Amino acid sequence: MSMGEEMSPLKGTILSASDSASIRLAGGIIRTGGLVAFPTETVYGLGCDAMNPDAAAKVFEAKQRPQFDPLIVHIADRKQLDTAVATLPPMANRLIDEFWPGPLTLVLPKQPAVPDLITAGLPTVAVRMPNHPVAQALIREAGTPIAAPSANPFGYVSPTTAQHVSDGLGRNVDLVLDGGPCSVGVESTIVSLVGPQPELLRPGSITLEQLTAVIGLVHGPPGNNDTPVAPGQMPRHYATLTPLTILASAGMRPVPRSGERAGLLLMSHSREREDHFAAVEVLSPTGDLREAARNLFAALRRLDALRLDRIYAEPCNETGLGLAIMDRLRRCAAR
Ligand code: AMP
Ligand code: MG
Repeated sequence: MSMGEEMSPLKGTILSASDSASIRLAGGIIRTGGLVAFPTETVYGLGCDAMNPDAAAKVFEAKQRPQFDPLIVHIADRKQLDTAVATLPPMANRLIDEFWPGPLTLVLPKQPAVPDLITAGLPTVAVRMPNHPVAQALIREAGTPIAAPSANPFGYVSPTTAQHVSDGLGRNVDLVLDGGPCSVGVESTIVSLVGPQPELLRPGSITLEQLTAVIGLVHGPPGNNDTPVAPGQMPRHYATLTPLTILASAGMRPVPRSGERAGLLLMSHSREREDHFAAVEVLSPTGDLREAARNLFAALRRLDALRLDRIYAEPCNETGLGLAIMDRLRRCAAR
């Protein structure tokens, strides 16, 4: 039994993060090499001490995540940034000033002390400063940067509530901190600053338009047929067990196949009765993309739980947050 396990007799327990005793317990679990799932503004993370390779190994094991997929390191202050990152290009400072704390991850040259398992052997490390009081309190209490992928089995839809974490990971996590539903709902935007030009590796709620306004031209996102750099960019990811098809356009409906039990995922309120569908989820009645992103993963999970034959998803325009929403839907639809 590891130290982390000794400190947490009730593996997989969900504790309210509003209790300061929960944060102290969770910080102790991280310091002693255990795993804590915690809320961030994007999705729930499965956290471990980012400087401890044995703890990182447990994260990969709990998620069944392949070890060539690097983890994002979460920090609470500039001092921790220096623990993880070797040098900051000028563009990094501009993005940090503008968007941290917040849902923007930067890929930067790593410090030698960051374990290879965290970065999948790359000379770079992905870091972000989350803008969630519980995440910040936990990192401070732990006194170390926290590496955290999404707290779900590898490849499945990311968790946006403590219950989602518990449903997917059960007793494979020492403790789950419950901070309520995530406000953003899709994973952080990832920008690499180690190449000749800044490159968008994953769209998120900090939009391409926002990035461009601060640092000028940003390349990407990589097309769907590109060779995957890492599983976060693999064609199939964030996926329901139920096959998902993206409709050709917003108003378009599939011709129902006889006997098919289908679900419909709508971006906004529909004027139609949608009688052909066994279940309908509306991401935002008014068509607000922030609300749609916030509801996306919970809606996908509810539809997936109905064991339908297929989910049909309405597309949205790929501007602003629409780029991140369509990215997640495409990866869910890929077979
Ligand atoms: P998540 O699954 O949300 O933990 O996101 C982790 C993703 O961040 C990985 O799958 C990669 O796509 C990306 N990532 C993390 N570290 C690096 C890195 N050093 N270089 C490039 N991408 C990275
Ligand atoms: Mg993930």
